[in-house]
Amino acid sequence: MFEGLITVAYILAALCFIKALAGLSNQEKAKKGNWFGIIGMALALAATITLADTGAYVYILVAMVIGALIGIRVAMKVEMTGMPELIAALHSFVGAAAVLVGFNTFIKQTLPGAEHLTGAALNIELGEIFLGVFIGAITFTGSIIAFGKLRGIIKSKPLTLPGRNWLNLIACIVCIVLMVLFIQEGGNFTYLVIMTIISLVLGLHLIASIGGADMPVVISMLNSYSGWATAASGFMLSNDLLIVTGALVGSSGAILSFIMCKAMNRAFVSVILGGFGGEPVKTDDTDYGEYREMSAEEVAETLKQSSSVVITPGYGMAVAQAQYPVAEMTRKLRDLGVNVRFGIHPVAGRLPGHMNVLLAEAKVPYDIVLEMDEINDDFPDTDTVLVIGANDTVNPSAMEDPSSPIAGMPVLEVWKASTVITFKRSMNPGYAGVQNPLFFKENNFMCFGDAKNTIEQISNAI
Ligand code: NDP
Repeated sequence: MFEGLITVAYILAALCFIKALAGLSNQEKAKKGNWFGIIGMALALAATITLADTGAYVYILVAMVIGALIGIRVAMKVEMTGMPELIAALHSFVGAAAVLVGFNTFIKQTLPGAEHLTGAALNIELGEIFLGVFIGAITFTGSIIAFGKLRGIIKSKPLTLPGRNWLNLIACIVCIVLMVLFIQEGGNFTYLVIMTIISLVLGLHLIASIGGADMPVVISMLNSYSGWATAASGFMLSNDLLIVTGALVGSSGAILSFIMCKAMNRAFVSVILGGFGGEPVKTDDTDYGEYREMSAEEVAETLKQSSSVVITPGYGMAVAQAQYPVAEMTRKLRDLGVNVRFGIHPVAGRLPGHMNVLLAEAKVPYDIVLEMDEINDDFPDTDTVLVIGANDTVNPSAMEDPSSPIAGMPVLEVWKASTVITFKRSMNPGYAGVQNPLFFKENNFMCFGDAKNTIEQISNAI
């Protein structure tokens, strides 16, 4: 009866997680999706805690209260621009948990008086432990490097050790050999420890050798790894819900990575092997010519005389928190009869959907927020494009310069509009560290300053 109830709770929680994922794939249903996630997690936690020995309740409660307090504090404090780092940090916890669960399961197996598995059951258990620790260790150190790169503590430039793909391959082969020996010998602790050390180093190397512009894929890939690490923990703990949840996170992360690779025109396998972004950014001594400037008042005049305007936001809009004045300016222009729309690049900002979240927060209507593929053909018929804090995602060299580190990445083709106005604080390059020839085109004007202040001035002038 009791076990039946737990199973029902787990099935309900799994359904909630599926509904949460479905909801989060659409802006209008995202809030509802989030609630399904919260309900599912509450059900899962409640059901799992009732499985513990009554004596353990107090430890679980103390750990939960400490964890919840830290979690609430971090969640309240985090800025939208800090979200990717937070996600990378949380992925590292999942990895560390999988490693600890693996070691714990192994130690429990070998304790005197424990119920010892034998034959095929023992081999399966040992295989689960080995794989769980392997994936967990890679996720743990890989996520720490991703955290460092996103926070700027570690340079985003890729680490290029000679023969790095061979090094990765040799590490994987050694781990496979160790796994066979580990299972054959009925569980040898030394092999487990050696493999853990190799996997920790492999995680460091895999992510350190991925270049700055490919970081979006790294984040979603680590998301996927953390899912598989969770599923592996589920097998070790014989917990069906962990297996289902891990598989959901693992496969959705893998699909997201694949979609992002497609958006950036990167080969999935090359990115995960650390093969892309591998070339050091060449020192750029090209003479791009002169750039022109426009004042906030002139921008306001240009906008009032336009009949169609497209806004392409990027990371700078998030840094400046300019989404509110942008929404206000959009409302004023629409009241004047100007057709204003937004063009969102799939990797704009620092996390998937970053711009959509900011614009939704500022109550920009969803129906004027379009994806890159939906808007790209409309630029030649657009009077004015406002590039607000975007750089790499509007860089024409991605299409025109095969030697560029971002070559081949589809971009918003803003330069095809009659007039382009770029908002940023300086002529510094964007995340990928490459200069942007857009800024020097005849039809582009720079409007320097913090995007929030400048857009507020323009909005007031309108
Ligand atoms: P970029 O990072 O290329 O450029 C942002 C621009 O914003 C900079 O040129 C900067 O110029 C400007 N800026 C910064 N602060 C302000 C401010 N307060 N006011 C005005 N401008 C400001 O942004 P994009 O969104 O175009 O491209 C995203 C990049 O990030 C891509 O390379 C992508 O691969 C990478 N990335 C994306 C992730 C994702 O999941 N979306 C994750 C990790 C990386 P200045 O300093 O002169 O002001």
